Amino acid sequence: MQDRRFTVCRAEYLLPLADPDRARRVRDGYVLAEGETIREVGPYTPDTGSRLLRDLGSELSILGAPRQGDPIPRLPGVLLPAFVKAHGHDHEQPIIGIAKDEPLTSWLDHAVNPFTGFINGQKDRLADELGCSPQLATYRMARLCDIHYGITASMVHHCNHNKYHVEEVAQANEAAGTTMIVAIGGQDRNYVQELLDRPEDALGRLERALAIEGLDRTSFCPGPDQLFSNSRHVLVPLKAWAREHDTLFHVHSS
Ligand SMILES: [Zn+2]
Repeated sequence: MQDRRFTVCRAEYLLPLADPDRARRVRDGYVLAEGETIREVGPYTPDTGSRLLRDLGSELSILGAPRQGDPIPRLPGVLLPAFVKAHGHDHEQPIIGIAKDEPLTSWLDHAVNPFTGFINGQKDRLADELGCSPQLATYRMARLCDIHYGITASMVHHCNHNKYHVEEVAQANEAAGTTMIVAIGGQDRNYVQELLDRPEDALGRLERALAIEGLDRTSFCPGPDQLFSNSRHVLVPLKAWAREHDTLFHVHSS
């Protein structure tokens, strides 16, 4: 299927979410893509199917199993532009549902920090078992889940212990083919002692991220974890870095 130039997908509903009528809903619609470029979007008719088959022939890959008299099957679903996730943490994917319904700080104490601390502490043993670092396995799971939910672009706030694993999240993102801004975390007060940064530590991590080679879909920005855990001493130089590199600046607000 990857070898064919065109891909067509037809579904029960199509929501183009495009001007001039962003509320438009199409019953029985299709999308035709050439590689990564969308060539046609619109209502499907039997003529569309015959035309595509006639013109594109063996260059056309059809999503779904063909049915008799229906060369391009209508899939039971909705075609719409993919979602953009404006804030998330790829290191939390495997623990979703654990310590559920707790207030934020209890959940951090009972789920997030024990989990990320555990995979950090047991890194070698887990890497032997998994065949890759436990961080990379975690981030790859998050990429798969995003795609499953229809999210193809995301802002990943790479907090706490994960700030030391920027290369791995970039690697997972490139492999998944999603688009990602990694907000690289940091803190200099009111936090676990071993994670406290000096401003040069936080800036150094950003510089090292920029030096990672071969990235097409991953970019970086400063992502101090929270305001309570970052003083002006570190926020000011991080914001200056963001201005200098024309990036976003991402922080939990409380
Ligand atoms: Zn968050």
